[in-house]
Amino acid sequence: MRLQFKYVLLLSFLIAQLCVAQKNENTSKEKKVVFIIVDGISTDMLQKAPTPFLDSIAASGSYSKAYVGGKKDDYSETPTISAVGYNSLLTGTWVNKHNVYGNSIKKPNYNYPTIFKVFKDQYPEKRTAIFSTWLDNRTKLIEGEGEVKNVTLDYAFDGLEVDTINYPHDAYKQYIKKIDNDVAVEAARYITAEGPDLSWVYLEYTDDVGHGLGDSPQLDAAITYEDALVGKIWNAIKEREANFNEDWLLVVTTDHGRSPKDGRHHGGQTDRERATWIVTNEKNTNNYFAKETVAITDIYPSMLRFLNIDVSKEVRFEMDGTAFIGEIDAYDLSATQENDKIVIRWKNNSEKNLKGTIYTSNTNQIKEGKKEIYKREAKVSLANEETTLLLNQHTGKMLKIVLETPNNVLNTWYINNN
Ligand SMILES: [Zn+2]
Repeated sequence: MRLQFKYVLLLSFLIAQLCVAQKNENTSKEKKVVFIIVDGISTDMLQKAPTPFLDSIAASGSYSKAYVGGKKDDYSETPTISAVGYNSLLTGTWVNKHNVYGNSIKKPNYNYPTIFKVFKDQYPEKRTAIFSTWLDNRTKLIEGEGEVKNVTLDYAFDGLEVDTINYPHDAYKQYIKKIDNDVAVEAARYITAEGPDLSWVYLEYTDDVGHGLGDSPQLDAAITYEDALVGKIWNAIKEREANFNEDWLLVVTTDHGRSPKDGRHHGGQTDRERATWIVTNEKNTNNYFAKETVAITDIYPSMLRFLNIDVSKEVRFEMDGTAFIGEIDAYDLSATQENDKIVIRWKNNSEKNLKGTIYTSNTNQIKEGKKEIYKREAKVSLANEETTLLLNQHTGKMLKIVLETPNNVLNTWYINNN
């Protein structure tokens, strides 16, 4: 008996050691991220067209329906336009903050830093890359030009669309089709050879076919074409993981859906224009990703977690997304006026009896790059999913409301229309 007990002890010791080794192996792996935007594919279009590569990524990872466009009919309503959507992904905020209202990208507000900016601030030695069919994505949205330049990407393969010698422009946008191919081929080559730490791949052709022909067999074929390009990048990631001690997060999404009438247009707030999707190779997405329609702004906090980026309180209190990787305690914060009260609601996502803290600010100084001063309003039990503030104590035009929980932070605005 004694001997057997000793063996049991030894065995449990060995199992414990094995678990530690396993855990170390996962945490010691180098974390790398690639996100891909394929332009202008609504949820139903993705479901209809054959997409074997995206299907296989989703099968080994996860898929969720998603949306763009902010809070409809509310303060953060955001046009379903390309650059507007890209910047919601890049900054984790809606248009009322990032300030890119159209494709001319007049005045992005860099006080809401892009994922590349916060990544390089924390890890200046790590390498960033962009592979893009549109030059402005790097120069205007990410880096900023002239006085407002705030970050420099380490590697860029873009601007091919301004080269009319090698890519002569044609009415049917075949040159964009070719550029998308060359962009994806270079992304796959560079990822395989260099393994950059954070990369963005942008592919455009589907949007051009959508504008030209709308719902059509040609649009389905364009989606299948882009799917194969995504497949090249997916294969490059698998090759890296097979040959190096690396853990890669791949996130594929789109910037907006298309009009319900014929699929040619976008920009408005119809369900189909707002309806998008996220495919990721990440198996361990949380229950929020599984059960909710997630937002394009959720990708930013998810990347922060995966890459272990610690952002300042200023950034955390402004992010309009909720991470779909790791634990979250609450989501969907909103504030409405009911009689003489501001009613604040959220959805509880924790089985533990957790508490959160409500903060408010009646200024919006972050917009000018200054620190915000928050007032601590109340400690709340998350399970209650509701609390109230007295309206007569908040008579300003707007009130920024933050709910901080042990594992995440949510924010919303209350706009006083009285
Ligand atoms: Zn677009």
